[in-house]
Amino acid sequence: MFVSHLESAIDGTRLPAGTLHTTHEGKPIWVRYDLDHVRANARRESLANRPATMWRYRELMPAPSEDAIVSLGEGMSPLLDCPRLGQAIGAPGLRIKDESQLPTGSFKSRGMSAAITMARALGVTRVALPTAGNAGAAAAAYAARAGMQCAVFMPDDTPIVNRLEPAIFGAKAFLVNGLIGDCGAIVRDGMERFGWFDLSTLKEPYRVEGKKTMGIELAEQMNWRLPDAIFYPTGGGTGLIGMWKAFAELETIGWLEDTKKPRMFACQSTGCAPIVNAFDAGERFATAPEKPATMASGLRVPTAVGDFMILDAVRESGGAAIAATEEDIPRWMALASAKEGVSLCPEAAAALGAIELAIKRGALDKNADIVLYNTGAVQKYVEVMERAVDMPKLDKTNVNWSAIERALG
Ligand SMILES: *Cc1c(COP(=O)(O)O)cnc(C)c1O
Repeated sequence: MFVSHLESAIDGTRLPAGTLHTTHEGKPIWVRYDLDHVRANARRESLANRPATMWRYRELMPAPSEDAIVSLGEGMSPLLDCPRLGQAIGAPGLRIKDESQLPTGSFKSRGMSAAITMARALGVTRVALPTAGNAGAAAAAYAARAGMQCAVFMPDDTPIVNRLEPAIFGAKAFLVNGLIGDCGAIVRDGMERFGWFDLSTLKEPYRVEGKKTMGIELAEQMNWRLPDAIFYPTGGGTGLIGMWKAFAELETIGWLEDTKKPRMFACQSTGCAPIVNAFDAGERFATAPEKPATMASGLRVPTAVGDFMILDAVRESGGAAIAATEEDIPRWMALASAKEGVSLCPEAAAALGAIELAIKRGALDKNADIVLYNTGAVQKYVEVMERAVDMPKLDKTNVNWSAIERALG
């Protein structure tokens, strides 16, 4: 266990490890490690003998012991070459890190494995969160794994699969006739009465630690080198913030062969693009859009508590924040799934559109070595799938062979 302390992200205040924390002055908290100690004690070579989950990076993880870990085998997602898709969008160096294969079908499992592990280790027995997407299923599944009670509050227009998953995974799930902010208010107001610990994005320090393993894993898969650019579908920004933190930690402990860091691209949809607007305006804090609406539910985050952390990472890395056209999401989703067989979620589809835009605008060399994070499985988005496909109907008594011929091309 190498955690040294916790630290406020807004003003650097040092906070003790080993006790429960939420936010500091309403802003997120970093977990800090004694990296000199890690450097002296941890060897890249020992990874080979460890289980294929994100907990193999235990020296850079917060769990107090092996026994404390709550795991469903999350992590070690494949890094896939995508030559056909790359060709189609004019980016031949494209690869996809496919998180759709993780427990509960999204990368939210990484964050929740870490958050539930730490919550249980610090004595929490009941957790709660608002969600309009994949976080509810992941929280419910890991709470079930840990034998904890979980309460989930969702807007009643949450996509159908996301709406059903938390209850199937044993959570007490509720539908609210409002937005995610209204759901968050219910969690806050019920906290004292029901003894809930709030698992909301960046309202506790450990989901970031789980998601940072996306970056460590990428480095390991690339033999401790990093790509030129990372395209990340950004809602609350946990993954982007976490990966940027991971790259700095890896550099400090001396594990990188080449310390050149990737340019981080925060990708959103024109339907909800507060981070892009703040980036373009040169601001460090974002303003909530008036009518946030996108079929990529993971990107529908009008107010991100970690806005300044996302923008700092993007700017430090020499990257950018880019919004892809909302209406084109089903087309990109279908293109990627059909060209490569990757189960691409609408959030990653927006990020794919952002790659095309970045190259078109001259912000990125077309031969760059690019990694796109596919953060979830397309099967969760029944509503968007229906918009993306067009299926001719056939009459069994009078088969229209010319329609079949036309469809086959
Ligand atoms: C939550 C979510 C996102 C956004 O993740 P952050 O790290 O919070 O920005 C992107 N894609 C999918 C599929 C999600 O569920």
